[in-house]
Amino acid sequence: MKRLRDWLQVLEDLLLPPVAPCGLCQEHPSLPLGACQVCLSSLAISWERWEVQGHACFSLFPYQGFGRELVHQMKYHGGYKQAATLGVFLGLAAREEPELAKVDLLVPVPLATGRLEQRGFNQAVVLADNIREVWKRPVCHGVLRIRETESQSGLSSARRKRNVRGAFAVLPGIDVQGKSCLIVDDVITSGNTFGALAQLIQDYGGKPMGIFAGRTKRYKE
Ligand SMILES: [Zn+2]
Repeated sequence: MKRLRDWLQVLEDLLLPPVAPCGLCQEHPSLPLGACQVCLSSLAISWERWEVQGHACFSLFPYQGFGRELVHQMKYHGGYKQAATLGVFLGLAAREEPELAKVDLLVPVPLATGRLEQRGFNQAVVLADNIREVWKRPVCHGVLRIRETESQSGLSSARRKRNVRGAFAVLPGIDVQGKSCLIVDDVITSGNTFGALAQLIQDYGGKPMGIFAGRTKRYKE
């Protein structure tokens, strides 16, 4: 009898695989998409397009409430799982967006080495790696942050611009000439970090665009 029960258990596990926890709250059972209904409702997902310095940018949700919490988890509280889940969401949205069909490369916004050591991972790289999981585009790791910049939060618009000027560099041998490069980051606030990296890509002959999990209203400044 025991053997029969074992077999029944095996069959049951096959038919009803355990449901993974939600990738955003880690509490409720996940829907097939990777997050639970509660999180999806709280996130107020709305795919939005706008332009920063003439470059098309897209994002998934407003940087407020639960969306803001998630960005903070990714940035400051080891929210790797959250970044991975949101990366898949971004990938699913991006592959349905006709304007992004021509993207050649994903370019995650790099972190300075010191900050990377503090945090353990770069949330923009985790986002890009997971975008690639569902939307097959190569991830470029050839852009570096060469200068430690102050944290952007709390700085005035003018200081933010000064803060990111000359902060990035393209490694020798990395060719973005004629390529459509989609800059990936967790959130866009003033748009200055994006603007600085977009300018660099343009200087190297590439065509920059942007994709972000969260957005604030200040990007229009
Ligand atoms: Zn959840």
